[in-house]
Amino acid sequence: MSDVSLESLTKAYGDEVAVDGIDLTIRDGEILGVVGPSGCGKTTTLRTIAGFETPTQGRVLFDGVDVTHVPPEERNVGLVFQSYALFDTMTVRENVAFGPKMHGVPKAERRKRADELLAMLDIAELADRRPTTLSGGQQQRVGLARALAIEPHVLLLDEPMTGLDAELKTRLRDEIGGLLADLEVTALYVTHDQEEAMAMCDRIAVLADGTLEQVGPPAEIYRRPANPFVANFVGSSTLLEGVAENGHVDLGFAELPVAARTDGEVRVAVRPEAFEIGSGPIRADVADVTYLGERTHLSATLPDETTVTLRADGLDGYRAGDAVSLSIDEDRVHVLESE
Ligand code: ATP
Repeated sequence: MSDVSLESLTKAYGDEVAVDGIDLTIRDGEILGVVGPSGCGKTTTLRTIAGFETPTQGRVLFDGVDVTHVPPEERNVGLVFQSYALFDTMTVRENVAFGPKMHGVPKAERRKRADELLAMLDIAELADRRPTTLSGGQQQRVGLARALAIEPHVLLLDEPMTGLDAELKTRLRDEIGGLLADLEVTALYVTHDQEEAMAMCDRIAVLADGTLEQVGPPAEIYRRPANPFVANFVGSSTLLEGVAENGHVDLGFAELPVAARTDGEVRVAVRPEAFEIGSGPIRADVADVTYLGERTHLSATLPDETTVTLRADGLDGYRAGDAVSLSIDEDRVHVLESE
């Protein structure tokens, strides 16, 4: 077992509360993503787990053992940051073997461990090179190998893909996600990129302003966002006002066969892909058209004056001023209970 629990974790810097009473567990062997806008407390949470910050209140537990006041070097955490922080005076192999060396692992064994990890990350041929001679993507793999070499209790990754180009990011996220799952590493993955979190993580924690808004598997966060903030931070949503009664929601201009927990005023979060253009009872007026090649985005106005972005096929020749007929796929909408 290697899980990590945060209990009522609070960290304030003077009057600035960076993390505000978070309860969260990173389960054994899972990759937990932490997403949220800039300044919401992601890095502070990670640094508190690593031991670089002491909480103002609350506790950090590793396998149920309170480590709140254990210094970083005694926590056995693996760290991967955006800046690779590799040692330029050492070869790649020496970099990876450095942690085990500090932990007193004999030379032959740490060399073997380093070579195994480099092979796993598909960079065995770089073992004798210096970090300065490597590309960003290669350095990032070395950084990951180095963090894994100490067989950490938990691996902490803070925006590790920042600075890499889009294609490499996609490839690395698939590879790294697969590798961490195979190795059954317990990991916290901080990113501001919600798509990256969806692709790599078993569960996602959404933070806003130092508080935990929702935690759950990617599909649950996407399909059943807990509140308007989550509905718009993870993917985008249109929020429509409606009245729930008898198992449906009346939007004024259309009725959706979706149930709310209680009757009365509700908000409905509608994903862009829920709008089906072509036939349907709802009339929308196209205000603006953005051609994106494979698809076209239409900015359109619904009868209640809400502006929505619709996705059309790139071959459809819509123009500003057109009227389109819409239906809403009720499987892709989610009723948000009123606050
Ligand atoms: P980003 O995505 O921009 O990296 P983040 O979600 O990681 O942001 P944190 O770095 O955890 O956010 O910061 C949370 C809040 O705490 C911010 O308002 C930040 O200004 C503040 N903060 C962080 N570190 C310190 C510090 N050492 N002293 C004072 N305030 C700090």
